[in-house]
Amino acid sequence: MTKKVRVRFAPSPTGPLHIGGVRTALFNYLYAKKNGGDFILRIEDTDQNRYVEGAEDYIVEALNWCGIPFDEGPGKESGFGPYRQSERKHLYRQYADELINKGKAYYAFDTAEKLDFHRKDHEAKGKTFIYNWHNRLKLDNSLSLMPEEVEKRITDGENYVVRFLTPPDEKLHLKDSIRGNIEIDTNVLDDKVLFKSDGMPTYHLANIVDDHLMEITHVIRGEEWLPSLALHQQLYDAFGWEAPEFAHLPLIMKPTGKGKLSKRDGEKGGFPVFPLSWNESEGYREAGYFPEAVVNFLAMLGWNPGTEQELFSLKELIETFSIERVNKSGARFDPEKTKWYNHQYLQGKSDAELANLFIKDVRLSLPSRQASAVETSFNDAYIKKVVGLIKERANFVSDFWKLSDYFFVAPSTYNEKASKKQVKEDTPAIMESLITVLENITDFTPQNVETIVKSWIGEQELSFGKVMPPLRLFLVGDMKGPHIFDIMGMIGKEESIARIRKALEVIG
Ligand code: GLU
Repeated sequence: MTKKVRVRFAPSPTGPLHIGGVRTALFNYLYAKKNGGDFILRIEDTDQNRYVEGAEDYIVEALNWCGIPFDEGPGKESGFGPYRQSERKHLYRQYADELINKGKAYYAFDTAEKLDFHRKDHEAKGKTFIYNWHNRLKLDNSLSLMPEEVEKRITDGENYVVRFLTPPDEKLHLKDSIRGNIEIDTNVLDDKVLFKSDGMPTYHLANIVDDHLMEITHVIRGEEWLPSLALHQQLYDAFGWEAPEFAHLPLIMKPTGKGKLSKRDGEKGGFPVFPLSWNESEGYREAGYFPEAVVNFLAMLGWNPGTEQELFSLKELIETFSIERVNKSGARFDPEKTKWYNHQYLQGKSDAELANLFIKDVRLSLPSRQASAVETSFNDAYIKKVVGLIKERANFVSDFWKLSDYFFVAPSTYNEKASKKQVKEDTPAIMESLITVLENITDFTPQNVETIVKSWIGEQELSFGKVMPPLRLFLVGDMKGPHIFDIMGMIGKEESIARIRKALEVIG
């Protein structure tokens, strides 16, 4: 029987989740769901010094907002918990002891000052200090000291750590589902600390013990953890446990393609790097992105479907996703492309849904004397129509007001360049007679107004260029906007005429 797929996302609560972290979570989620497995959230908080209040809640909220909730994790116990490593503290010591008893790990008493001294001493000689086979017997540990001395130091309460004893002269054959086979010579590895003097395991020990106890079958994580793979594989071997399959995801690179995407890149380029806001940094949610768009663009960072298709719902991603199609090389982050994705998802939303989001902006943006109009003239149906007319030009709901303010308020200024170009000597007279034409229209629907105005232009032997551009400028204040007769139909006869009159006073 094949084992049930169980994957985990294992962030350390040291701050907000970077979008790279969200992508790791997403790939884990997709892999689990594709294979009928479970997606687990484990909080790796063994490093108390780096713990940040609120970070865990942030992580949970971000996953939920993206629509990729975990099946098991803090608050969702399923027999494998607790899911915070700080609550599993009592578990790890026995595993460190097991390795010591098997001769695969040892006690080390070297003080921080001593180690620092060695590091500096090596640096001065242009070398790097590595705690391993070539110097471990000269250092202060249970390999170099007599057993009685070791006993004594421990009973005397001296501080010590437990280090992994890396076997010399071995070739490790590591496997990564994305990178293939990797060979490592154990002589280049150091004897990593597994258990710290503060009574807490290090990331390495806790991570392996928990992956084992939680029956994790696949470890999908960022490329920055690839250097730890050699130690992790050795730990599995030392315990005699079957290792999960590993997949290390490519880094997300700066828009320039050089170097890892950082918070600073976002600040410089004016785009979010966090899913949700955190202190002063704006998140994708607050910047007006739809979670579906974020999930879609993240999926395309380092993975490709092998076809030209770019738009994928979460359901389609689950169906299409495979580790084999994850790239080895870094994925360049393109902030413009993220906007394109949001644009696409925005077009796919119903006008009613968008109107519902937009109405808040309308309320906030309307001049106070007009506030009550939201209940009367600018009701839901009106706002829905406005949305239908302008949404194709928008990337975000927050673009709507700029694109549609003239549906709600008469322009108070007129684009200067356009005024110079469009308002000629005969414009006032033409507009005056247009007012008379409009006054006589009883059925003020766009089609009817269009037919009447166009035949009037014909009868008067006027050109369209003499009527339409100034008319748009007078009604909108600018040369932007959808079909002018749609605008007139929306704002109505009185308002259309009033705006032409006002413009004639101001610029005519
Ligand atoms: N706690 C590690 C992190 O913060 C987890 C790495 C792993 O997935 O093994 O990313």
